[in-house]
Amino acid sequence: MEFLTCFLHQRLLTLSCFFGSAPPVAVSLPKLPRNFLNTYVFEQDYRNICELLLSVTRSRSVPKGLQLHAHIIKAGIQTIPLISHHLINLYSKSQLPLFALQVFEEAPQKSSTTWSSVISSFAQNELPLLALEFFRRMLHSDVRPDDHIFPSATKSCAFLSMCDVGQSVHCLVVKTGYEFDVFVGSSVVDMYAKCGEIKLARKMFDEMPEKNVVSWSGMIYGYTQMCEDDEALRLFKQALLQDVDVNDFTLSSVLRVCGTSTLLELGKQIHGLCFKTSFDSSSFVGSSLLSLYSKCGVVEGAYLVFDEITIKNLGMWNAMLIACAQHAHTNKTFELFKQMESVGMKPNFITFLCILYACSHAGLVEKGQCYFQLMKDYGIKPGAQHYASMVDLLGRAGKLQEAVQMVQEMPMEPTESVWGALLTGCRIHGNTELASYVADRVFELGPVSAGLHVLLSNAYAAAGRWEEAARARKMLRDKGIRKETGLSWVEEGNRVHTFAAGDKSHVKTIEIYKKLEELGEEMEKAGYVADTSFVLKEVDGEEKNQTIRFHSERLAIAFGLIAFPPERPIRVMKNLRVCGDCHTAIKFISKCTGRVIIVRDNNRFHRFEDGKCTCGDYW
Ligand code: ZN
Ligand code: ZN
Repeated sequence: MEFLTCFLHQRLLTLSCFFGSAPPVAVSLPKLPRNFLNTYVFEQDYRNICELLLSVTRSRSVPKGLQLHAHIIKAGIQTIPLISHHLINLYSKSQLPLFALQVFEEAPQKSSTTWSSVISSFAQNELPLLALEFFRRMLHSDVRPDDHIFPSATKSCAFLSMCDVGQSVHCLVVKTGYEFDVFVGSSVVDMYAKCGEIKLARKMFDEMPEKNVVSWSGMIYGYTQMCEDDEALRLFKQALLQDVDVNDFTLSSVLRVCGTSTLLELGKQIHGLCFKTSFDSSSFVGSSLLSLYSKCGVVEGAYLVFDEITIKNLGMWNAMLIACAQHAHTNKTFELFKQMESVGMKPNFITFLCILYACSHAGLVEKGQCYFQLMKDYGIKPGAQHYASMVDLLGRAGKLQEAVQMVQEMPMEPTESVWGALLTGCRIHGNTELASYVADRVFELGPVSAGLHVLLSNAYAAAGRWEEAARARKMLRDKGIRKETGLSWVEEGNRVHTFAAGDKSHVKTIEIYKKLEELGEEMEKAGYVADTSFVLKEVDGEEKNQTIRFHSERLAIAFGLIAFPPERPIRVMKNLRVCGDCHTAIKFISKCTGRVIIVRDNNRFHRFEDGKCTCGDYW
């Protein structure tokens, strides 16, 4: 025993040298005890070892940790509960959960701390099934779960989306009296929210006497997942009013809400908050900020955010790529891809979807084919979505035979989006024969989505097969599916003004229609001729209305012209595709008024300036 203690002292000395001039923790070495059985001194020793273990855990240094573990085994102190607890933590934080398991198995006495360490090690390292299995074993060995163990169990249930198991854990929480514990309660709220049980989450949340950032952010995230954006924003505001320290997770959730609802003004305010709390430098919040600006049509803002973040993860690169592609900054997309390769960031399947999207919307067939090949060189198997992009690219460019060949060569069953892309290609290039052939193939598949039904019916109608066209329409009606109403909206301060085609409900209706009337005359002088063929021909995803002059986006633009100062670009969002005539008309409006107009339809962004659109009439 004397030998061991001396050995340990010596080792501690060497270790402090080994950690270099600035050891993570100052190790004070007690004098060698005269009486080595002095338990106080022995306790001091292993406490020093614990300090060292903690410090190695913080620095995440696996080799140093392994060396320290070896010393511990040699000193024969690995069975001391506190030491095994620290060892398990070390391996857990170093993402070596199976090493943690080994230490656990070797521990002769398993205290609730030991159990808690091993269960949390599995929960943290995405091994939720093992975590739950050990939770069960712990209950069998008559150890009472505590406020550290419950959150690991609920986290694992959330990860697996196993709400029923989660509910059992919740029962146990109630039985053991941890219901009102802020950590345990919050973890239960978070679990229900992540499992999509928003009502159960809210009930628990409302009943909690004390809440913390986990419960607040769990609730807010839950509402965003259920697309209950208003409630998510309301809770966020409440959290701020109650001085809850919001974290990057919460900020990123609400920024995503602002992005999908195109609430630019609110999003900018939250950006300000991110800046104040320094969360704007996290790549997690950064990608949400980037997609907020991009989705709201401010691609310059997206570039700024991207440039300001020093450590960019793959999600960030992909978000920037899709922003460039949607805003028709095609060359910039390719440039970014090169940059990505040069900094050693490996692209994934989403990266290639962005690139193919850019190629397809710029009509760059050869480039698209190159990237499709490159994808295989990177060892990424093209998925159905990549094939759909390729078919879209070939179809739009009029290479319909090649598009058909692509469909035939697909290693998987063609999906609806693949057929949709092919039918769109046929429509653009007026190939009615191929369209009706494709429609027949799709009909054989059985039930399809509403969007595809409209495409089918149009394809048959164009080929003069009226009976089939009527049948496709009837199937649509029978299913009770109605076409989405075309809506356009524009943000003014913190208000959103929404318009439908021919809408007369807005307070400024008289002024809006007068503005359109005036503009109409000016535009005609500049050479605009309304193309009414769009009224007769119903194209999928476009607004169906006889009064083409008052399509929703034109009303929204007229409102913008009246309400915004001349230097401010008019940003209009639309849920359907912009029709051909409106596209031409907006080009004329931008020329006659000298304004920048940005329209986002369901497909992409159009930036109209001086009579031209960035999409190059290719959308
Ligand atoms: Zn239109
Ligand atoms: Zn355009």
